Amino acid sequence: MKKSSNCVNKFVLGEHLDTADLPKFRDSLLSWFQTFQRELPWRKNRDPYRIWISEVMLQQTRVAAVMPYYERFLARFPDVESLASAPQEEVLRLWSGLGYYSRARNLQHAAQQIVARHAGKFPRQREELLALAGIGEYTAAAILSIAFDEKHAVLDGNVARVVSRLEAIRGDLREPKRWANLQTSADRLLAQESSGAWNQAMMELGATLCTPRAPQCLLCPVAQFCEGRKLGIAESLPEKRKKRAVVAIQLVSVVLLDSKGDSLLLPPPATLAGSKPDDHIPSLVAKLWHFPTVSANLENAFRTILLRDLRIKNAKFVRPELLDKVRHTVTYRTISVAAYLVRVKRLPKILGAKHLPLTEVHSMPVSGLTRKVARSAVKQLSASKTTH
Ligand code: SF4
Repeated sequence: MKKSSNCVNKFVLGEHLDTADLPKFRDSLLSWFQTFQRELPWRKNRDPYRIWISEVMLQQTRVAAVMPYYERFLARFPDVESLASAPQEEVLRLWSGLGYYSRARNLQHAAQQIVARHAGKFPRQREELLALAGIGEYTAAAILSIAFDEKHAVLDGNVARVVSRLEAIRGDLREPKRWANLQTSADRLLAQESSGAWNQAMMELGATLCTPRAPQCLLCPVAQFCEGRKLGIAESLPEKRKKRAVVAIQLVSVVLLDSKGDSLLLPPPATLAGSKPDDHIPSLVAKLWHFPTVSANLENAFRTILLRDLRIKNAKFVRPELLDKVRHTVTYRTISVAAYLVRVKRLPKILGAKHLPLTEVHSMPVSGLTRKVARSAVKQLSASKTTH
């Protein structure tokens, strides 16, 4: 190992691991991975399609949350062709609850591109992969290395954290220059002969031992090579990024309920010819099936929904029941919804809208926010039943 510098602040990009130590470092991590890796459904074989689906699902989502979605998705769409030819609504329905729905749309678009450009066969060239919808550097490297053992080092948040600690790299890791330097470090560490296992081992280390808080250095197979640990700064790395200011969004939603117990959901605008997304509604609501919703900043928001969106003429006689406030957080946005239950004799006929029982809302492609509003309405209904 190289000698540590006394001046910690100089460590912008470290290269503390001597080239002579690399074989031992790689062996230690790989044999730890072989013994302790978790059993995960996407590790059962090296089918690039299955690896691709898992990598996309795992972006921004925890392993435990992904597992049931992964199994259901693969059971319904076992290969590129079945995904490419499915109705988009069904793809979104099976994604419903995972969030970040552009991932599902891109998956299907890329599947269609693979069928059209590569006769349904997964491309093996990095450039061909990068030309597919939603596939960036990380996903391409993961697919190529895990499925085909191509020599590409992955760099995601987990791996970046591990490398920043191993090499005692300070500063905001997401700054483009520093990120590029991290990629250089990850490339240098890569075990060339088994890049698929290597990348998974680095990710596994980041997910299980070298975790964001309280890394378990005593159990770590590569602790003796870790400069961050040696300097006693491992836990403080990576250094905190400047936080993006939180944006608070307030919405008003209306849950209509008819005498049969059906409610009304509006379709995503893309499914209706000529319709455009409403600027007042965040895309996470309007891009999927949703209850009639507008921004609370709109004057008379509640009446606007009844008159403009639902064309309920005798709106002034409506007696809304205010549901428990629904809150939802997506990255830097915190959304709070004032939702109203409105009982009507008959649901209005709105082009493309669906009438369905509240308890079945979750079976549609809806966002987590819409599910919460539906749950709040169901809770209100059972509370009102018990009081009557
Ligand atoms: S020794 Fe600790 S900080 Fe260093 S790689 Fe291992 S778990 Fe991470």
